[in-house]
Amino acid sequence: MKTDRGVGIYVHIPFCKRKCDYCDFVSFAGKEDLFSAYFSALGSEISQKKDKFGALTVDSVFFGGGTPSLPESSCLTGILDVLREKFNFSKNPEITTEVNPDSGSFEKLKAYKEAGFNRISIGLQSANDEELKTLSRVHDFKKFTVCYENALRAGFTDINVDLMSAIPGQTLKSYEKTLKTVAELNPSHISAYSLILEEGTPFFERFKDGKGLPDEDTDREMYALTRAFLKDYGFERYEISNYAKPGFECKHNIGYWERKPYLGLGLAAASLMNETRYQKHGDLRRYIDGDFSEDTEKLDRTSQMEEFMFLGLRLIKGVSVERFKELFGKSIQEEYGDVLKKLNKEGLLLFDDRVYLTEKGLDVANYCMSEFIK
Ligand code: SF4
Repeated sequence: MKTDRGVGIYVHIPFCKRKCDYCDFVSFAGKEDLFSAYFSALGSEISQKKDKFGALTVDSVFFGGGTPSLPESSCLTGILDVLREKFNFSKNPEITTEVNPDSGSFEKLKAYKEAGFNRISIGLQSANDEELKTLSRVHDFKKFTVCYENALRAGFTDINVDLMSAIPGQTLKSYEKTLKTVAELNPSHISAYSLILEEGTPFFERFKDGKGLPDEDTDREMYALTRAFLKDYGFERYEISNYAKPGFECKHNIGYWERKPYLGLGLAAASLMNETRYQKHGDLRRYIDGDFSEDTEKLDRTSQMEEFMFLGLRLIKGVSVERFKELFGKSIQEEYGDVLKKLNKEGLLLFDDRVYLTEKGLDVANYCMSEFIK
């Protein structure tokens, strides 16, 4: 597969003030004493990766976690400086950091802006304090509004707000109120995901029998409401769970869905480079001691094509027929003719110069995508 375009860089910051009961991300609470050692190890990993991948052009950088806004701003801005020094950046790279409402002070946000961050993503989840308590988030809605104001004052114009549906105790009415409150703030981007019960979390144990969770019908209604509601406020749905004002789609995440190569730095980060998937270990102590080893999996041609289809079909515009041919030397029809016909007949998929899911197809996207896996 040709890699004729730039890469995205993901930087993982595995620290949080407190661990949320539903979260299965690699992140640790109460490790403030390890911040400086972690960032210094991250610097070493970047130098190592530069030797391997330094010739690439970076189109986007995304700091995620964990809570990237928890450590001092100089930790993040320092890493961004190191990245700039070691890699070539394209002319207008998108540079995002996630921000927790609890730690998004004006000083921090201003420092990010001055260092070159041009997009922030605030994890609100819900505008209802009871629901935030249920999620055991450290912030309340008031803290979010202060953080949002701080972001505007610091000069950010590209702001994502993360929302969550299907929270225990959440009703259609309270979810609609959250949507309305956030849409009226007029951010450039909204991500809206359903809560997923992840095995091994306290939430899983508490709710695995389904009691206390919104039922399936309410869950579907919330999903449909998000679409209709945000449309009225001028947000365009460009991916199953992502909505943006025109021109504010997240380039970094589009890169994942279009299978652009990306380099993951930091603990437990994953990469896709030269058609190989890399997955770093999640042992904080080993990482700090300079062990950046990762599992690798070289993707064969069939896996590359499957990924191209099931990731690309998450995008509302779907996948490009021409791009498929360019990458794999054969047409989509030739490879997936039967699946395309079947899904088209079921009213789930359309194709012209692109292959994309219909509204009905997007509602059962997992089924459609699974059809492309041999
Ligand atoms: S703040 Fe985010 S990353 Fe940290 S524990 Fe909560 S959900 Fe997980």
